[in-house]
Amino acid sequence: MTTEHAEDRFMVPEIRVGQGFDVHRFSDDPARTLVLGGVAFPGEPGLAGHSDADVISHACADALLGAAGLGDIGMHFPDTDPRWAGADSIALLTHVVDLVTDAGWRIGNIDTAVVCERPKLAPRRTEICERLSSVVGARVSVKGNRAEQLGAIGRSEGIVCFASAVLVRPHAARDAGPAGPDEERGGQR
Ligand SMILES: [Zn+2]
Repeated sequence: MTTEHAEDRFMVPEIRVGQGFDVHRFSDDPARTLVLGGVAFPGEPGLAGHSDADVISHACADALLGAAGLGDIGMHFPDTDPRWAGADSIALLTHVVDLVTDAGWRIGNIDTAVVCERPKLAPRRTEICERLSSVVGARVSVKGNRAEQLGAIGRSEGIVCFASAVLVRPHAARDAGPAGPDEERGGQR
């Protein structure tokens, strides 16, 4: 085995998983538009929130930040900050994608599970997946679930979204010298 091949054995990519969760209640304000994954649902009641309350985009952003160890969405976009009042959450998600990729990560994929009694996601699901995938630069899948009339979500009081994200970045050889400042080498192996 050549030295080059021996080094290849330790060039294992670094892989991290992150979990995101978000929930918003439906708003009483008829002027609010329901936005899910950057796709508007005219005629449906909107969700309450400081931004456009796009639960899917928020859960995706939280999963990405969690996987990269970059905090959470509340830290980056505090709901006390007037800059984010009524904000388009696709802009928030785009900002998070930039933060994660600037840290050297490539996004593997994001999978989401939305729990709601309404609206019906199936007819718009491809549109939502395509919208989010174009923003994230990787596959984003969206699955719709009902709460079987259980609890607040089952009473159509709001919408919940769970998201899982995988990040990958090339890893330096195990014995290739000191790690970068954001590395946590001690616990890796
Ligand atoms: Zn949210």
